[in-house]
Amino acid sequence: MKYFAGIDIGSTAIKVALVDESKQLVGHKISASGSMFYKYAKQSLKEMLEELSIDEKDLVYTVSTGYGRKLFKEADENISEITANAIGAVAAAGQNCEIKTIINIGGQDSKAISLDSEGNVVNFAMNDRCAAGTGKFLDVVAMNLELEVDELGECHFKSEGTPLAINSTCAVFAESEIIGLLGNNHSVEDIVAGVHYSIAKRVIKLVKRVGIKEGIYFDGGPALNGGLVYAIENELGKEIFIPEFPQITTSYGAAILAHESYEYEITNKDEDN
Ligand code: ADP
Repeated sequence: MKYFAGIDIGSTAIKVALVDESKQLVGHKISASGSMFYKYAKQSLKEMLEELSIDEKDLVYTVSTGYGRKLFKEADENISEITANAIGAVAAAGQNCEIKTIINIGGQDSKAISLDSEGNVVNFAMNDRCAAGTGKFLDVVAMNLELEVDELGECHFKSEGTPLAINSTCAVFAESEIIGLLGNNHSVEDIVAGVHYSIAKRVIKLVKRVGIKEGIYFDGGPALNGGLVYAIENELGKEIFIPEFPQITTSYGAAILAHESYEYEITNKDEDN
């Protein structure tokens, strides 16, 4: 059996996905990017193959993507995360949903991608200037509230009051605002719900730049946060599709592309001979 890998080197996490000859996802791994992207990406790929008992020689094509994609010199090819995200989202949703709009919230940026009915990218908008609508903001909020980032979702649903308004548009000021709210005896749960609604409002503004078309897919690490998902759905007034593994959509897309590129190379080589 031959295997194809996609490596998404994000600002916060490295995601590795592996597909087989029938483009089925056979494994994935998520690890922190740290400061040495290249070293950790290589290590992560090696560890995933070992965990799946797959021989390195059976990995025949690798595509890198994401912020640090060009640093991974062993890749056979690299592609933009917008393209990889679109391919991964369409494949992950499969027959369940025809994806027309992707919302991606990453560690340090957020994106909205618009697709046509064939799954091609027709437009995208990105916010990489401000941490307020990103995973980094959620990490800082969790730290200030003495929570882990994966506890924010559950915490949101314990909020009994109206979600608090977080008015600061800058992450640094929002952090001070949150500390102020804590000082005024507001509950951690109401603050968390308020933070989710403030991110939801920001991200919807971004989506409006490309147009909101139904068949909405939400991915990136923060899509694991059920409270944030709920806030975005509520603000949009529309249901959104969350895949089983939202954080690995882009690496999955890169792995599918690795499969396609390999097939293309083989076919063209045969035709040349
Ligand atoms: P990037 O591709 O930019 O590195 P990711 O899509 O990997 O970003 O998202 C990283 C962010 O996801 C983190 O900053 C964190 O806020 C969030 N995150 C990661 N794991 C979880 C989890 N289990 N629950 C909620 N949020 C999470």
